[in-house]
Formats: sequence, C-alpha cells, structure tokens
Amino acid sequence: MTSASPSGGLLARARRLVASSPAAVALAKRVYRSPRLQRTPAFRSFVRTRAARADAAVRAGAPPQLWLETVLTCNARCSMCVHSERKMVGVMDMDLFRRLVDEASAWGVDSVCLSIYGEPMVDRRWLERLQYVRMAGMTYNFFSNASMLTPELAAAMLELGGWTDVNFSVNGFSKAVYEAVMPPLARERVYGNIERFLELRRAHAGAVPRVTVSCVTLAENVDELPEFVRYWRPRVDRVSIADRTDWLGELKKTDRAVPVRGRLRVMDDSQWQTPCPAPWHKMYVYADGRVSPCCEDAALRQLILGDTNVHTLRQIYHGPGYTALREQHLHDRRGQHRICGGCRVNPPWI
Ligand code: SF4
Repeated sequence: MTSASPSGGLLARARRLVASSPAAVALAKRVYRSPRLQRTPAFRSFVRTRAARADAAVRAGAPPQLWLETVLTCNARCSMCVHSERKMVGVMDMDLFRRLVDEASAWGVDSVCLSIYGEPMVDRRWLERLQYVRMAGMTYNFFSNASMLTPELAAAMLELGGWTDVNFSVNGFSKAVYEAVMPPLARERVYGNIERFLELRRAHAGAVPRVTVSCVTLAENVDELPEFVRYWRPRVDRVSIADRTDWLGELKKTDRAVPVRGRLRVMDDSQWQTPCPAPWHKMYVYADGRVSPCCEDAALRQLILGDTNVHTLRQIYHGPGYTALREQHLHDRRGQHRICGGCRVNPPWI
C-alpha cells in the first residue's frame, strides 16, 4: 500500500527474515532501542529521511493502512489489557461499516484489519461484515483470542476467501498460567480451537491465511516462553513474543510484568522521542467512528484526529488533525504534543 523503493524492498525483505524468528526479533528490538544507537547522527538522519519520505508519499496520495474496530467488546479480561479494569463495550454500526469499506475500497486500500481492542468474533454480524469486505474486493486480517473460532465458522471463513492473516493472542502455555492471564477463557478450549483450525487450513484447497500466535511477555508467563515457542513454532507460520505496553498509562494496576527487564516497550526519559510513523501510515477507526492514528491510544482514546460520522476517511487523513500532528513529528516537536509528548514508545521506522 505504500510506494516501493529499492531500499524499501531490501528493508521489507530484511523485516520478513527477522520476523520469522522470535530470537531475531528480540535482538533487532534491542539494537533499535539502544540509547547508544539512537544518539548517533546516522540514526537520526535515517529516521528523518524515512519520515520525509512518508510525508511525500501521503502528499502524493498513498492510502494508509486501515483498521476498523467492528467490536470493542471482549469476552476476556487479560491481565495486561484495560478490559480487565473497566467496562469497554461497543459494536460498529453496520451502515457506518459498509460506508467505510466502500470508501476504503474506492480509495485504493486493498486490505483491512478488522480488530483493534475487542474480540471480533463476539459480533453476531461478523460473517456478514466479511462478506461485505469481500464484495468490495478487499482482503482482510484480524487479531483474536480464538475462543469463539468454531470449526463451522472457520470453514465458512476459509470458503469465503480473502483472509490473508490472523494473529491469535495466546498469553500462556500451561493451563494454570494461561487461565490466570486470560480469564475467563479456558486453555484447553482455545488450544483445541486453534489446532482444529490448523487442520482445516491444511485440508483447504484454496488460499489460506498466514497464522501468527502471539504472546505478551509477563512476569506470569516469562518462564514458560521457551516451551511456548517450541510448541507453536512447528504448527504456525510465525510466533511473536511481544513486549508489554501500559496503554499510555491507562493500565492502572501495578503491573507484575514491570520487573521483566527489557520487556516493556518503552524508552527511558533520556532518549530522543523520534518522529513516529503512525501519523503517516495508519488509520484506526474505533467502533463509534472516531479516528486515531495509533494503537497505543486504543484504551485512552484521546488521540482523536477526526470522526467518520462527520467526515470521510480521506478528508480526515488529509485534514487538519493529521496534518498538524505530522508537522509536529516531522519538525521534532513531538514532545510538545499533549499525547505523543507523554508517550514513551518509539515505534520503529523499519
Ligand atoms: S508517538 Fe506514541 S502516542 Fe503518538 S502516534 Fe506514536 S505511538 Fe501513538
């Protein structure tokens, strides 16, 4: 969806290579976040060049990556998620959803992610939404805890086609750890659902989605991560061991994961707050139609740059909210922004 260049192609290949190994990802993150590297003129020049190039691409009309939050409601209360602390519910209105898919398709967005901060399969109209996306000529992907992925639903989705990727969030390996981290979900049911889905995928004659199984590193599960990786690696396309976020400070509980050294995806106060790729690359439409450029905002919901109940996607992406935020990031004034200035994440430009 973004313009290709020789260096972009090389970076994309390198990214795919690194992404195939959890150990390589961990090493790449350590290198990218190293304060010593981030202090070098070469690093700053790299980031500034990438930001300027992204800005030119937006001006030339490149569409963003698009997320539509079909539902905010979730059936789990994971310990690293704000759903465990307060009620967050909502379903995207079907007329709004159809209009957004139509707009995105006409704009040249060829694939959409259909989840942000909820479990998409709690939606009674999930299949209907997928059919609509397919009729609009787009492909789709999503994140899910797999607790509601019955073989019947999986078969219907495989039959429908256009399903490119799925990321199953599975934050524990043993029954005790999994069920402590992701209540009230049952470990055996979820593992069984994924295993049965993988069998269906193997038997399906047409195109099938790439499967990632991801786990956020927490104090509760850190000791069983090697076993987790050994179990899932031969079964799926990718195993992702992610670092925890505090959702821009929204996660109130004293997080037991904090002592997991190096596994909180934040920098320390002395580091340069780099321009962030999100305002150039991303549009997240929440279930109520408001738009944010950033998944870190998914619990706080205050980095709002527009409302699709009032404006089109394209009007918002080229409108005053996005434009002003890009200017601030591009000209090294991120620190002055009410939300981005307090954000301790430096998302990578690679
Ligand atoms: S700087 Fe932080 S809050 Fe701002 S867009 Fe990037 S990740 Fe989101």
